[in-house]
Amino acid sequence: MTHDLFREDGYLRECSAHITAMTEAGIVLDRTVFYPLGGGQAGDSGHLLLADGTAIAIADTRKGKDAEGKPTADIVHVPAPGQEERLAVLTVGTPVTARIDWERRHRMMRLHTTSHLLCHVVPQLVNGCSITPDYARLDFAMTDPLDKETLTAAIAALVAAEHPLTVASISDEELDANPALVKSMSVQPPRGSGRIRTIRIGGDGDAPLIDLQPCGGTHVANTSEIGAIVVTKIEKKSATTRRVVLGFAP
Ligand SMILES: [Zn+2]
Repeated sequence: MTHDLFREDGYLRECSAHITAMTEAGIVLDRTVFYPLGGGQAGDSGHLLLADGTAIAIADTRKGKDAEGKPTADIVHVPAPGQEERLAVLTVGTPVTARIDWERRHRMMRLHTTSHLLCHVVPQLVNGCSITPDYARLDFAMTDPLDKETLTAAIAALVAAEHPLTVASISDEELDANPALVKSMSVQPPRGSGRIRTIRIGGDGDAPLIDLQPCGGTHVANTSEIGAIVVTKIEKKSATTRRVVLGFAP
């Protein structure tokens, strides 16, 4: 099992760790700051730094899988190709410093939080979502048309309002009693441990609640950190689906 430090603090750029397994899929650590592909958000890339000063380049991060293909609590750091010699010296117990590509991750944090703002602007169920370092896309189950400029302006207003984000959790029973919290038909809430992580935007004291939903992803601490975002494209993906693509303002 890998202790997922990024769930409590998405701003951690590196941590010390030990290798707990070397598998065909990659390197498993006892703790990590690397986010594994899931919930629509891409896996982190970065480096594992070794005591001798060398580094293993990590191209992607995935959840571990058991023999039946079911996800485990391991997080697998997938090495970039062509590092066989350096990988050969690694064994269980080897100490490393795990360091993510922070610029890339921070772009995903900004876009992921924006996608939650979009759930407030477009209060419809989401049936597909993808967060990458360069763009985010959300598919809404709806038939009404959407307007690029209107959505871009609505997001800009929420960014300018400097709404804080709060990471918390609810129980399985609380989620079952409030099914409306789940806004995605395609991403299952991160159940299993008895507690489900939630991301709340706004809603402190008398402040208006902007969005609250189960989410395992990494987010900025305040919407002001998102910066300038534009809706780059709106597509009619099917008769009942509108796709919205978000990007950074040029
Ligand atoms: Zn999310």
